Amino acid sequence: MKQGPIVTIDGPSGSGKSTVARTVAERLGYRYIDTGAMYRGIGWLARREKVPFREGPELEALLESTRLSFEERDGRTALVVNGRDITDRIRTAEMGMVASDISAIGSVRKWLSVLQRTLGEEGETVLEGRDMGTVVFPDAEVKIFLTASLKERARRRTTELRQRGETVDPEGVQQDLAQRDFNDSRRELAPLRKAEDAVEIDTTSMTLAEVVDRVLAVVRERVPEKR
Ligand code: C5P
Repeated sequence: MKQGPIVTIDGPSGSGKSTVARTVAERLGYRYIDTGAMYRGIGWLARREKVPFREGPELEALLESTRLSFEERDGRTALVVNGRDITDRIRTAEMGMVASDISAIGSVRKWLSVLQRTLGEEGETVLEGRDMGTVVFPDAEVKIFLTASLKERARRRTTELRQRGETVDPEGVQQDLAQRDFNDSRRELAPLRKAEDAVEIDTTSMTLAEVVDRVLAVVRERVPEKR
């Protein structure tokens, strides 16, 4: 049973969602769920099992036989798919594209939405993604929509991928982001868009601390016990 509020943070790649959502969750003592990691996880699995990226019995069978969970392992939250810790494997630019492709498929979205609602069931959870405030938790108490210029998002993503040891070309990263923005906002199912009642924050020239403070201020406004 839901006992506490839900905070949704949606926005395009590189808008700062993950870092902001994780920090806000820590500050509130809430759970943090990265739903992009879940799409990456299913994309990774489908590719590994050579299941075509389209509706059909093969994809149905894959989803039916899949167990996906977040578990605390070695002091961090790991994404575990069918018993395998794939936290690091899904973090490449290539897996971002794979996730974007598989996320346009209805049965995948449905399967993951059910799981996401279960994860947020008890409340006191921050969920970040593309459709958390619009589709998965339309009644969330707090909805945030983060944006930033394409150039700034590409700069952030390049730094992040380099820190992970990937050799990346900033131009390529920017093109990938533009492509994913296009795919994510034009697709028919759960396209990336701001919920009407979401608070939009343009993070282009803001520091992480400023964005976090702004989000916490919205939480205090909308959740009376957090005043
Ligand atoms: O946030 P992240 O870059 O990890 O997400 C990877 C991809 O998964 C996105 O480009 C998007 O296509 C998809 N996604 C989605 N809905 C979500 C979260 C991610 O469609 N709630």
